[in-house]
Amino acid sequence: MNIAEWLAATARLRPDSPALLTGFDLDADYATFARRAAAIGAALSRDYGIVPGDRVGLFATNCTQYLECLYGIFWVGAVAIPINAKLHGREAAWICRDGGAKLTFVSDDTIEALAEARSDLPAAMKTLSMDSDAYRQMRDGEGTPAPVPREVNDLAWLFYTSGTTGRPKGVMISHGNLVAMSLCYLADVDHATPDDASLYAAPISHGAGMYHFPHVRIGGRHVVPESKGFDPDEVLNLGRQLDNVVMFAAPTMVRRLVDAAKRRGENGEGIRTIIYGGGPMYLADIRDAIASMGQRFVQIYGQGESPMTITALSRELHERTDHPRYLERLASVGHAQSVMQVRITGADGKPLPAGETGEVEAKGTAVMLGYWNNPKANAETLKDGWLRTGDVGRLDQDGFLTLSDRSKDVIISGGTNIYPREVEEVLLTHPDVREVSAIGVPDPDWGEIVVACVVLEDGARPDDAKLDAHCLASIARFKRPKRYVYLDALPKNNYGKVLKTELRLMMKK
Ligand code: ATP
Repeated sequence: MNIAEWLAATARLRPDSPALLTGFDLDADYATFARRAAAIGAALSRDYGIVPGDRVGLFATNCTQYLECLYGIFWVGAVAIPINAKLHGREAAWICRDGGAKLTFVSDDTIEALAEARSDLPAAMKTLSMDSDAYRQMRDGEGTPAPVPREVNDLAWLFYTSGTTGRPKGVMISHGNLVAMSLCYLADVDHATPDDASLYAAPISHGAGMYHFPHVRIGGRHVVPESKGFDPDEVLNLGRQLDNVVMFAAPTMVRRLVDAAKRRGENGEGIRTIIYGGGPMYLADIRDAIASMGQRFVQIYGQGESPMTITALSRELHERTDHPRYLERLASVGHAQSVMQVRITGADGKPLPAGETGEVEAKGTAVMLGYWNNPKANAETLKDGWLRTGDVGRLDQDGFLTLSDRSKDVIISGGTNIYPREVEEVLLTHPDVREVSAIGVPDPDWGEIVVACVVLEDGARPDDAKLDAHCLASIARFKRPKRYVYLDALPKNNYGKVLKTELRLMMKK
């Protein structure tokens, strides 16, 4: 099998169906999409000497060519390395070198960054801009009739972790992993129909970009917004016009979408499903999102090592407000996805019973083959097929998982564990607080103290005493922040994730 066969099959079945759109403009139907992928595959082999198993980088902002190239890479049996377009050229070059890319596709807005880092690139690596005439000639050339056959465990996607906890690691995802992930999508996240418009509001280079697989198989539309950054107004407009829109949004994007919908007096008409995850969604935020945009939310919990596939909190559970444990469920990340198992282990690595807090471990057909060229990280992370996620959480009797935090973010103050998320959840319910991140800062008496980095709502004034009283009304005295720091914005990565490592560094200065 080869995941690119899904494209070939849909092109046979629905050649005239719209496949690739930029905004409202149609770029290609399925016959054209498949023909271009086949031509790119042929050119990779003929002009660049790419053979099955070789790695090809994709360092570009979202565009429809991104999907053409991706399927072209799969078509020839090669391995895609998606690289976050917001990375510095040197960081991207490091990934190209680590992954041993023979060629990297770039776009006009990333080409310079990579050129400036030329000395760090693999000596023999070539680059090709997806915006160039040479690229257009390539995709309009002669193609090979069928994708090169691959095995289920052959490498397809070499995804570099975002590095919020250290240097990025290359996560090896196989063709079989991608099939498993797509099955989970259809079983646990959302159905898919040929009328769907899969909207890429988040970077395709992120795990969420992989949600195109089930939509390619079903023959839905793939829509890349025109604006390069996330523009909530454009997303709302596209929703109204395209209808049946399905999209992934990181929690910060959901928040911006909700703000825009409120401002416009709309509720996200035409957007059928918003899949959120990739970072903590606070209870106050999801309740606000449901109140303003209605019932269209599904949560997923995953990580690069098991992309988008550890647990899911279904649409139904977002809707069952009459359920006696509704809020508890809403604060959870849901239940293990269909091809996955989840367990909690203690410090000794042994499984813990329901209700007890420990490290979250996941096992199943979506879990990566391992890290690329990193036996040490493999030995630390994979044990008997169980993936150690580095997240702390607990399962309830019914198998619902509630995350406390990442183990590296847990604050140990006076010998007691404090989960920053608990503090953040409480502070976020204060009307003056727009965003907050709690971190541990070294302290001679306590080991660490809790420091809350707060972004205030417009017009609100810093007032430690008010926030302190608010915390004391809901959480134990020892958990409340000993210090408040007021910031204009929290440092975030390209996926909208708060960079706690940067906050910790800022506090050291
Ligand atoms: P690195 O592994 O390099 O440190 P990273 O932490 O950003 O990078 P990702 O794979 O991008 O790695 O993110 C996965 C992490 O994001 C999970 O381990 C978890 O901590 C968090 N996460 C993902 N989904 C959710 C969710 N629904 N709720 C809370 N946290 C989530």
